[in-house]
Amino acid sequence: MSKVAVVTGGTRGIGEAISLALKELGYTIAANYAGNEEKARAFTDRTGIASFRWDVGDHQACLDGCAEVAEKLGPIDVVVNNAGITRDGVLARMSFEDWNDVMRINLGGCFNMAKATFGDMRERGWGRIVNIGSVNGQAGQYGQVNYAAAKSGIHGFTKALAQEGAKYGITVNAIAPGYIDTDMVAAVPAAVLEKIVAKIPVGRLGHAHEIARGVAFLCSEEAAFITGSTLSINGGQHMY
Ligand code: NDP
Repeated sequence: MSKVAVVTGGTRGIGEAISLALKELGYTIAANYAGNEEKARAFTDRTGIASFRWDVGDHQACLDGCAEVAEKLGPIDVVVNNAGITRDGVLARMSFEDWNDVMRINLGGCFNMAKATFGDMRERGWGRIVNIGSVNGQAGQYGQVNYAAAKSGIHGFTKALAQEGAKYGITVNAIAPGYIDTDMVAAVPAAVLEKIVAKIPVGRLGHAHEIARGVAFLCSEEAAFITGSTLSINGGQHMY
């Protein structure tokens, strides 16, 4: 039986590319999403990959969602914590809700998904968890205290959980993407984006599949000795 991988936010953007890359490796994929039914349906029709709707920021929803995936597809071997949102603004204008939503979904989602799956992985003696951080969690970014804090937290979460998983055959790693051409980046005003691209040594935005290849490698058998690491894929923007 093939291994089962859950990709949160797996129906579009970077997550879609990750779902496809892991499918290519032979995994059975469950692509989670938050609420964009149209994109999720189109993704499932196009790829044949099952999609499952729940909010990764909701602890019980993650427990229930993962139980449903396990029942339908089999026990979960791989989790890619990719779901994420931005609620940008300088501190003076950032509401508590903007802070809390980003922490709850981007960082809390990693905790919730690990709680839902880590125990079973430990019992079966094998697992792969990949958390999607960000260059802005490594370097900081103006107008993103919430996002930078959550993404930076993901890198600490990764190193700590890696220590717990190591003796059970579970690796826990992070990928820190730079700016990737997705809907999330399309929301950045063109003038701001132009300045950002000017600072990327390779001179362009990244492509979702360039992140997905890194995730696929970290989820493979060959990456068993890599744990607690962060792989930066950012066109040389921030050398960390
Ligand atoms: P997109 O905005 O294009 O897609 C986000 C995905 O996450 C969607 O599938 C969305 O579901 C899902 N999602 C959002 N909130 C939730 C939630 N509460 N529960 C479940 N799913 C949720 O994002 P990207 O593909 O650009 O980004 C993917 C990840 O990569 C994020 O964590 C982001 O922070 C990170 N990243 C992105 C960079 C970039 O330049 N694009 C750079 C660095 C990091 P739905 O379709 O239903 O809305």
